[in-house]
Amino acid sequence: MAYFWIILLLFAVLRVIHCEISPFGPENEENYKEYYNYLALTRRLHSFVERYPRISNLASIGKSIEGRELWVMRVTTHSIMDVPGKPRVRYVGNMHGDEAVSRQVLVYLIEYLLTQYGTDPRVTALVNYTDIYIMPSMNPDGFERAIEGDCKGNSAGRDNAKHVDLNRSFPEQFDATSTLANDAPEITAVIKWILQRKFVLSGDLHGGSVLASYPFDDTISHIMLGVYSPADDAALFRYLAQTYAQNHPIMREGRAQCPDDPNEKFKDGITNRAESYDVKGGMQYFSYLRGNCFEVTFELSCCKYPLASDLYTEWNNNREALLTYMEKVHIGIRGYVMTSAGIGLPDSNISVAGIDHSITTWIFGDYYRLLLPGTYNITASSPGYHSKTVHNVKVNEGRAMLLNFILKDLIEEMPLLESPASAIPTTARHQVLSSQGVSTLLSKVQQHDSSYHSYLDMEQFLHRISTVHSSVAHFYSIGQSVRGRKLYVMEISTNPGTDQPGKPQVMFVGSMHGNDAVGREILLNLVEYLCLNYGNEPLVTQLVNTTRVHILPFMNPDGNEGAVDAQKYFAVNEDLGGGMRYSIDQNTDLNLNFPELSYARDFVQPETTAVMNWIKAYSFALSASILGGMIGIKYPNSVGSLDEAVFKSITNAYYMENPYLAISQPCQEPRPLDRNYINPDFSAPKRIDLQTWAYRNTDTLGVSIGMSCDRSPPAEDLLAYWKQNHRALLKYIQQVHFSVRGRVTDIQSGQAIANATIVVEGSRHQVHATSTGRYWRLMAPGIYQLHAFAPGYAASVMTVRVLETQVEQVDFWLTQEQLLQSEGQMEEEEFRKLVEGLSSALSLEQLVQSLLPAGTLLYRNYKERSEFLRGLALSFPHITRLYGLGHSWEFRTIWALEISGSPESLRPTEPKMRYVAGVHGNAAAGPELLLEFASVLCINYGWNPTITKLIDRSRIVIVPCVNPDGRELAQEGRCFSTAGLTNAHSVDLDTDFLYGNISVQPETHAMMDLIEGGGFTLSVVLEGGSLMATYPYDRPTQAVQNEETLRYLASVYVSNHPLMHLGYIGCSDGLGSVPQGVLRGAEFNSHTGSMKDFSMDVDACPEVTVYVGCCLYPPLQQLLPLWTEHAMPLFAMLLEIHKGVSGVVQDREGQPVAGAVVRVNGSLLVRTDTRGYFHTLLAPGTHQLQVQAPGFQEQLTQVNVSSHQMASPIMIQFTANSSRFAQKVELAAAISIATVILCSLLVWHFRSSKFRRIRDHVRWLHRRRDDLHLEAILSEKSPLRRVFLEESESDDDTFYLEHH
Ligand SMILES: [Zn+2]
Repeated sequence: MAYFWIILLLFAVLRVIHCEISPFGPENEENYKEYYNYLALTRRLHSFVERYPRISNLASIGKSIEGRELWVMRVTTHSIMDVPGKPRVRYVGNMHGDEAVSRQVLVYLIEYLLTQYGTDPRVTALVNYTDIYIMPSMNPDGFERAIEGDCKGNSAGRDNAKHVDLNRSFPEQFDATSTLANDAPEITAVIKWILQRKFVLSGDLHGGSVLASYPFDDTISHIMLGVYSPADDAALFRYLAQTYAQNHPIMREGRAQCPDDPNEKFKDGITNRAESYDVKGGMQYFSYLRGNCFEVTFELSCCKYPLASDLYTEWNNNREALLTYMEKVHIGIRGYVMTSAGIGLPDSNISVAGIDHSITTWIFGDYYRLLLPGTYNITASSPGYHSKTVHNVKVNEGRAMLLNFILKDLIEEMPLLESPASAIPTTARHQVLSSQGVSTLLSKVQQHDSSYHSYLDMEQFLHRISTVHSSVAHFYSIGQSVRGRKLYVMEISTNPGTDQPGKPQVMFVGSMHGNDAVGREILLNLVEYLCLNYGNEPLVTQLVNTTRVHILPFMNPDGNEGAVDAQKYFAVNEDLGGGMRYSIDQNTDLNLNFPELSYARDFVQPETTAVMNWIKAYSFALSASILGGMIGIKYPNSVGSLDEAVFKSITNAYYMENPYLAISQPCQEPRPLDRNYINPDFSAPKRIDLQTWAYRNTDTLGVSIGMSCDRSPPAEDLLAYWKQNHRALLKYIQQVHFSVRGRVTDIQSGQAIANATIVVEGSRHQVHATSTGRYWRLMAPGIYQLHAFAPGYAASVMTVRVLETQVEQVDFWLTQEQLLQSEGQMEEEEFRKLVEGLSSALSLEQLVQSLLPAGTLLYRNYKERSEFLRGLALSFPHITRLYGLGHSWEFRTIWALEISGSPESLRPTEPKMRYVAGVHGNAAAGPELLLEFASVLCINYGWNPTITKLIDRSRIVIVPCVNPDGRELAQEGRCFSTAGLTNAHSVDLDTDFLYGNISVQPETHAMMDLIEGGGFTLSVVLEGGSLMATYPYDRPTQAVQNEETLRYLASVYVSNHPLMHLGYIGCSDGLGSVPQGVLRGAEFNSHTGSMKDFSMDVDACPEVTVYVGCCLYPPLQQLLPLWTEHAMPLFAMLLEIHKGVSGVVQDREGQPVAGAVVRVNGSLLVRTDTRGYFHTLLAPGTHQLQVQAPGFQEQLTQVNVSSHQMASPIMIQFTANSSRFAQKVELAAAISIATVILCSLLVWHFRSSKFRRIRDHVRWLHRRRDDLHLEAILSEKSPLRRVFLEESESDDDTFYLEHH
């Protein structure tokens, strides 16, 4: 954690020292000799923005009654962006149209800020760190009517055009029923603005006196004078008011000597507003109590509308006060409230003990709490999270101290994660579960009466429970049965009956068949059990705290009407003819009463409809129907393999506690509850069971749990069934917490996107975000692509790796499509210029030298490295994402840090860069260089515009240490030691990247997953022990396609390094000199199983290995010089990913063609994505592209690639479809050649078991490639064919060439 503070401190200090220079230099155009009417003001404000576009932005927040714009000038760096951590301050002037001084003074203030920026360090700092909003006139209509020289406001102009006094018409403080004035659009606009921007500090400028007055503005009695009405922050308000007054030469005297009341005196020029003059419906209190903002009102001059000749004096009187007051936005404490995943929590509460006024966080989870120096206890809270209090926070004078809060999700309380060392991956989930002390459960079993409940009994029971346990139980009805009985549901949870954002919901249904009493009785027991044991039994307590459990015990209350006792019931039923009727009224089996097709539902019973509506309304993540008449657990029909794994996993959780059910037993039921049950009436619409219907139509995944063959066993047996199942039911509920979960949020507004759809690739089951944007999706361990969609938003995709031992949080930040499009074009052009500009070595060097250094260089062990990465991710939550790729043998996490402008969503054309180090643990400099690199990127984001844009347009994945176990063994200063070269099982990881290798090392496996995840444009790996770079391939027999490009990419790194390109190594590795410092991998150290070969084969991603220096583990003092040498090449590679060639492939109608194969120079293959887009890096020069897609005639085109230009997308359009005949010939050829390949593969396959590794390799490759278009496969130069031939022909021994 220490590093994190150091970085922030550095950041702060360096930002003060570094001053951006305004490109225009100081200007001064004001003559201070005239008032600006609306048109003049509008022109003047526009001229500012034209002149200072980088630090100003003009917007209208609405219109006055007469249609004048309510202009607001925003002055700050990145003036069109919301940068987390920048507090917002505002000035509003001319709210009373005839109080005109403020209107002009605020224009002068704007000019002063803009012209002094870059010249005056104080103004520069203010504009750099503060988001300043200035509204010169809130009442432009009134001003047009006011008359210059009217000191007392005798002429019209105070009110707006509908005679509304704007400072008397805000919703009233002491009258909850007061509403907004209809005739004041100015107020409506300002209120919206106040609420949206959540200002931290504001000043409201008036005239008619010289005075600063602080809240409250009024008292409940509204006595005009003399009643002091203090706010909870009274001391702070007095200080803020004084700040202004003390810096105003007249105000500070406290004796304005205004002609109206020449003897009026105010100590220090400040007053409590209500005490001096009761103002009802003012803006000041509204800002404080509803707007999260500290506001003070300033009266600038005795004369409301003095002659213009006084303006210069007024400006001089107020300038210092205006500046100093704004600077006070930086006092107190500030920081972020976030989840442990580093996601900011908007609208969290920040409260200070002893002050009864809380403020809330803004859209990034950032907050600013102005406070006077002192010691405070600060609490952060957010719904769905545990609150956190930090005691004895010392607030000093000067800049706000940073205090971040990390709130634990209520759900994180679940005992999911044990210490990693004790977790055994395959069984950890169950092991953790059974570690809970559920064995003592029956110690507090409910007062079991061992008898069946009739409908009336049940009604009474539920009433009793919800009364006695009202804090955790709440019951409601979801509808009625055919005979008008209510369908009761009991909700068990803390705060039952209320929407609780962080809690997933589980539902149970019982007695779908009227005579099915087991389900009902078990569920009634469950209700009572949860209530009685809440607060006593840890697992129950945790479940009730973190889950909403909804139980519908009796779905078919008509079905056993009058059957109080099971025996009696059977007697009745036998009379009816075999006990086969499930619902007496309708003769309907409600579990097979769910419609397969939404429109064909004539047969659907009212009970079924009620349940369907209920499930749709609640978005349960997990459910179960409890039945008799079968033994075992059934999940829905025809689910995909992805969901089958989920169902197996939750089913197994149940079986673990009740193995009896795992042995499915046939029941002697006349009509077993068979999911393959065929409705005898074939013409009728198909009916499906509840869980199948829910799987296909709702967010719910669930199973049917059959507990006994006997639907209504003798009452005395019920306890035995309960004992057998109760523990399993608890475990089942707990499964909901293994969901992948997260939030879907609008990236601009920070608002939750309700009803966003989450789709897992490969499953037809969709889930939706709740009204608070949350979603849950149960998943079995594996790697998945999650997509989020919402109408009007660009879709977003995220990769998630679900582990048995870990709960995954995947948050989506969606961007509105409109915004993307309009912003897109401008940005594109700007970025193109930037890439071009940086492509000269000189300007890149200038950039690197101008960056804020992070200065984090030192050697870190695993723990320190992990902490450092976590700190970095927490400090920069909006551009970073930290996640584990997997674990080493010794269970150290292999971290990946992703840096990107939008870490949660993938922009379609964003190139992806991978930086990797520590493959060999003894090459210790690489990891540290990458950590420094990551830090420099982060701290310069939002500060250096070039870095900001580069990060916004790239996705950078940094894996600082692949071999953390080996790294722990390496020793500082040992330049040639092999200690730590291998992993803990003595495997050199760079020989382990063999496809399909079953016994692959865990570290290798983690990297393979990342590489296979795909989409990388370029990869750089830092090694040690030499001074040069190598490019693919490392394996000796591989002929290199596009060698020119690969060599070029390596040379980009080398040529930006001061020494490497000279080619003289001088290390003791036997290499005298290497021409240009670049070698093909096999020429340097020929071996198989290398990561770079894998990257080429699997993802067609070129990987350059850089040997950063002769010494593997140089002494600490050499780290800084090393960084100085390597910073520029590292940035050069980041720039490089934006070059090469990119394009879009379309058909004749202009529709994108996905999966088209683009072949570069007859060899390298690239495929278009779903938008028809492709991108690949190429050496500068002319390249031939062949584009093929099934059903189209091949297109040929030629591209020129430049070393200093961004890839500009080319358009490839198929002009004609290929003829049918040609297709047939192609197909025939394809089939015959494929057969030949297959035969030879088979022959080879059986040749010998000795070459199993190779065989796996080819099989695996085959799987990888067979989705490439057949034409490509058939090509002479296709990689599959090449690899296949080579490997089957090559001498087997070459495959086992080991280096070292
Ligand atoms: Zn006023």
